Amino acid sequence: EEKLLEIKDLHVTYQTDEDLIYAANGINLTVNKGETLGIAGETGAGKSTMALSIMKLLPRVGSITGGSIEFEGMDLVKASEADMRLLRGESISMIFQDPMTALNPILTVGDQIDEVLKLHESGASEAQRAARVDEIMELVGIPAERKVEYPHQFSGGMKQRIVIAIALACEPKLLLADEPTTALDVTIQAQILEMMKALKEKLNTAMILITHDLGVVAEICDRVAIMYAGEIIESGSAEDIFEGGRHHPYTTGLFNSIPDLTKHTDRLSPIPGLMPDPANLPDGCKFHDRCPHCMEKCTTEVPAVIRQGTHEIACHLYAAERCECF
Ligand code: SF4
Ligand code: MG
Repeated sequence: EEKLLEIKDLHVTYQTDEDLIYAANGINLTVNKGETLGIAGETGAGKSTMALSIMKLLPRVGSITGGSIEFEGMDLVKASEADMRLLRGESISMIFQDPMTALNPILTVGDQIDEVLKLHESGASEAQRAARVDEIMELVGIPAERKVEYPHQFSGGMKQRIVIAIALACEPKLLLADEPTTALDVTIQAQILEMMKALKEKLNTAMILITHDLGVVAEICDRVAIMYAGEIIESGSAEDIFEGGRHHPYTTGLFNSIPDLTKHTDRLSPIPGLMPDPANLPDGCKFHDRCPHCMEKCTTEVPAVIRQGTHEIACHLYAAERCECF
């Protein structure tokens, strides 16, 4: 497998009026060409921070304070804004939760797709671009003749399809999707995910899919990483994560918080407690004050990442025994 993106020891902070917030605390992550990586974790775990770091679109108060983000051999952390402008939309695209913030209300959807093409495919003629706009509209399941309509003329699900069309217009190598279906109702969610899955296979686009919904991850991801307090605490193939075996106690907690419709329980068992204050992170394992297995050393020593095949877990429970443990 060929590496497309490799994040090494990424650190990101936000400086607010009162606090320095530690949003990413040593993230290591690889995405191979054409694969779909799911990133799961609660709100505030650092998922969006990681994606915005890749795009170099962190809010003004945010800064990358350490590490590297290699994309096809180029370190994006060191890349200039001019380099990033060329990459965005062309090689790396991002779609967000709310399609309305991504669409311009006063331009037709066709013109919005065309804008991306104009920017990145300057060699194409007007007729070629128009043909491409039609093609992309059809690709996301919208009749090409609707390209003359404005965003408000489309439903929520349709708007997100248009956002996806804009993101995929230049056939990027990497698509970052941050909760792309969260704002949509359940049946529409499923259709959009199905479409994204088909499209990424067709275009061989790699995708990082950020979600708090493990069901979505199970549906379309090849590999999965679980984030907590700005770190990846477990990662592996979809099989490693979803087919039994042993997990990081936080991952186990996440699984238990999915309602199991087959067992007729209507009660979620969310993990008790809250994620630590990112301005004041605890020593040792950052999950220790919520962990049912917390041991003494968990409060002082940061757990090392233990690897078995493709499966990695950062937890003291597994460190002692090595390898046969999960
Ligand atoms: Fe729990 Fe300790 Fe493992 Fe952290 S390192 S998840 S506190 S057992
Ligand atoms: Mg987020």
